[in-house]
Amino acid sequence: MREGTALAIVAMGSNIEKERNLADAIRLLRRAPHITVQKVSGIYESPSVGGPDDAPEFFNAAALICTELAPLDLRAALRAIESELGRVRTDDPDAPRTIDLDIAYYGDVELDMDGWVIPDPQAGTAAHVAIPIAEVAPDWVHPSDGRTTKEIAEQTDPGEVRLAMAIHLSTPYSPRAPEDFDDVGDVYAPRFESLVRDQLLEIGENPDREGLMRTPLRVAKAMDFLTSGYSTSLEEVVNNAVFDAEGAEEMVLVKDIEFYSMCEHHMLPFFGKAAVAYLPKGKIIGLSKIARIVDVYARRLQVQERLTNQVGDALTEILDPHGVAVVMEGRHLCMMMRGVQKQESAMVTSAMLGTFKEDPRTRSEFLDLVAR
Ligand code: ZN
Repeated sequence: MREGTALAIVAMGSNIEKERNLADAIRLLRRAPHITVQKVSGIYESPSVGGPDDAPEFFNAAALICTELAPLDLRAALRAIESELGRVRTDDPDAPRTIDLDIAYYGDVELDMDGWVIPDPQAGTAAHVAIPIAEVAPDWVHPSDGRTTKEIAEQTDPGEVRLAMAIHLSTPYSPRAPEDFDDVGDVYAPRFESLVRDQLLEIGENPDREGLMRTPLRVAKAMDFLTSGYSTSLEEVVNNAVFDAEGAEEMVLVKDIEFYSMCEHHMLPFFGKAAVAYLPKGKIIGLSKIARIVDVYARRLQVQERLTNQVGDALTEILDPHGVAVVMEGRHLCMMMRGVQKQESAMVTSAMLGTFKEDPRTRSEFLDLVAR
């Protein structure tokens, strides 16, 4: 694992509008900076403990995450998600809540700070917490009691805890949309879906007709994939694919990298091909990673100029080479479809850094190779 990152397990619970809140919490967690969600458990249903008999049942789940945040900062990030979902923390531990996000485990950290304890004591004793945790990280060893989460889950009294439903999540980063892209789960992104439904009404459609019934959910999933660059860090994409290469001085060029992005002015696609080159200074990167880096910045709302610069800056940051050159050629549907400029022509943007900027011969060698 990279330095400065830790694995942690977040325990989640809700008993107010729980289907919506749990799904939205997972989406917000997935989009939070410095947090990569690696695995999410199914949703488990259990009776409210300690509250009045007619208290609504709880939904619980767990997420395995990788994070650059220290425990206190991670807790603050979880609290921010809670308040975005309308949670007001009170002194009553049994009060109904829209959402509850707690750090169950953080690496092998053991911590007790004014009653805030890691690992969460409930992770070792309560089935509704332990069972989802064991699903996402069965081999995780509890730092003080030595048992794995699987053993803990098997040894707690399951009571009435039962699997309620599974949330289908697209993976945090993938070069292509997940295979089960259209395999619709029960719950995905309720707030997003209702917005898409309203949008359908606004354009005069009937969201209840058969062809449109699952459209809000599909749009939510598609948009999550198409904007997954926001929640993908450069480090996780590069993932140790940078190699020392003493003496490697020749230009490395990758051409015809397909990219698909969306313009930030109309949220309509623009797409085309990129050519990326660098002059190494002792470090090289796996070739396929260059296309992945383009994806990270393309999968956001963009303007092509910024996208081009970001790819150049990213390679500079990762490799510290003598120079980087990026040329992108894109066709913009917001121009082509709306008849603003009925044209076949493509927009070309470039970023020339280091030697490519300073030395005309290097630059023209690159441009010759691209044009070939
Ligand atoms: Zn546009």
